[in-house]
Amino acid sequence: ETIAGLLQAAIAAYGDRDALIFREHGLRLSYAEFGQAVDRLATGLLDLGIGPGDRVGIWSPNRPEWVLTQFATARIGAILVNVNPAYRVGELEYALRHVGVRCLVLADRFKASDYLGMIRQVAPGLDSCRPGALMSERLPDLRIVIRMGDATDIPGILNFAKIAATPADPARLEPISSALRPDDAINIQFTSGTTGLPKGATLSHRNIVNNGHFVTQTMRFTHEDRLCIPVPLYHCFGMVMGVLGSVSKGAAMVFPGEGFDPEQVLKSVADESCTALYGVPTMFASMLDSDDFAKHDLRTLRTGIMAGAPCPIEIMKRVVERMNMDEVTIAYGMTETSPVSFQSHTDDPIDKRVTTVGRIHPHLEVKLTDDDGNTVPVGATGELCTRGYSVMKGYWNEPAKTADAIDDDGWMQTGDLATMDDQGFCNIVGRVKDMLIRGGENIYPREIEEYLFRHPSVQLVQVFGVPDVKYGEEVCAWIVLKPGADADEAEIRDFAKSLMAHYKVPRYVRFKPELPMTVTGKAQKFVMRDAMIEELD
Ligand code: ATP
Ligand code: MG
Repeated sequence: ETIAGLLQAAIAAYGDRDALIFREHGLRLSYAEFGQAVDRLATGLLDLGIGPGDRVGIWSPNRPEWVLTQFATARIGAILVNVNPAYRVGELEYALRHVGVRCLVLADRFKASDYLGMIRQVAPGLDSCRPGALMSERLPDLRIVIRMGDATDIPGILNFAKIAATPADPARLEPISSALRPDDAINIQFTSGTTGLPKGATLSHRNIVNNGHFVTQTMRFTHEDRLCIPVPLYHCFGMVMGVLGSVSKGAAMVFPGEGFDPEQVLKSVADESCTALYGVPTMFASMLDSDDFAKHDLRTLRTGIMAGAPCPIEIMKRVVERMNMDEVTIAYGMTETSPVSFQSHTDDPIDKRVTTVGRIHPHLEVKLTDDDGNTVPVGATGELCTRGYSVMKGYWNEPAKTADAIDDDGWMQTGDLATMDDQGFCNIVGRVKDMLIRGGENIYPREIEEYLFRHPSVQLVQVFGVPDVKYGEEVCAWIVLKPGADADEAEIRDFAKSLMAHYKVPRYVRFKPELPMTVTGKAQKFVMRDAMIEELD
């Protein structure tokens, strides 16, 4: 199945049902209307000379144009390149150049980021050239820039609303769509950049269409489900698990707003009678802690996914108890595997659902290996490796990195450490890169984080290693306290001592107003580590 085929099927079966609801933008489209809007935009892109294999970048927070561009590019076989909304000039230029983006669709701005200003810096010729001409020596492929919204025209920059109003020409679109093959590259997604420079994963229709399907099938979605999507579209959590997963069932997608605001999300769930909700753990934590939490009627909620980062058990429990999400699931995945490979089932026992990432998805294989590549026994810790339809085609234009990540037999080495019980429930222990060795003892920061989370004043905690002359590495914890809460270093260390072996007790505890995060809600430990090294120096 191709992405275009997926949408056609939803239109045929559920044409008059809600497809897209963008609350902040006041837009509501049924599946039939959605399909028509996609065809208009796809025809407009064809008129601009964009076709199969061309890379089309999208740089925007969650806006209607994002989803329209996703399906319009897929309709004509252009490869969508998701550009992280948090990027600044340097990263933008790197991403656009690395994959040879020919056309960039962008929002004017997002929060304090002036996208138009930044693209002008990397493409100085933008305002003075005609679309199709060279704009920047440094970006030889970039020829077309399309600006979202319906603001006034700017020379050199095309207007999204005008292109999206092109009369649809299915007679031209159909032959292109039907010539596309499931294994064609259709999407380049950059990884979150949690451990360093983001990598561009090349994904096919087969990769992401199937993954979206299995994600929502696991939650027993039907066309009656209404999914609230506060996670960023640029990431596979939003565009694959959210959008493709919903379209595969004809379910409705509700987007609360461009950025994440806990109150706005809770209100959207209540107003739109959502049955499902996605989020990374920090999002659920801030919803639960929001002042007006109790005011919102969440009775329609049934299921959802918490994923993307380690999910603290305490938060999972509160989601089940207080948000009415009895059938909530945890998913584990990575951009390179489209993304999900593990997910709990809605009817798995609750203790398994709060403590593990569930079992392997259908049609995938899994093994856990030691340093020599041998499979470890049940219960032992090993590097998680997965194989099957969901493994990416490769990192765009980086054969060496690809060969490092995917072995000759097709196994994707995830870089994550895991254990698995005899029923196949998997527990993510942490990242290979995060594991620290203190005086010869292997320490998994994730375990220490779970313990510190139990402290009543702790809202967020991240544990990582810093170099130490005596022990090789020392344990350091950065903590964000709950609003109004109070705690000092000695108290946290005493608390830790009561719960865990002495060598795991953080030698350094620091309180911070916030933690360095990726837009996908993951703490960047390498940033914290660098800051600590400087502090201790
Ligand atoms: P980069 O590869 O650029 O450093 P990243 O790995 O964070 O960034 P993503 O592909 O967005 O980029 O995230 C995948 C990673 O997120 C996984 O490898 C894993 O470490 C973590 N992860 C995802 N889901 C879970 C989960 N349920 N529990 C624990 N960790 C998770
Ligand atoms: Mg990664």
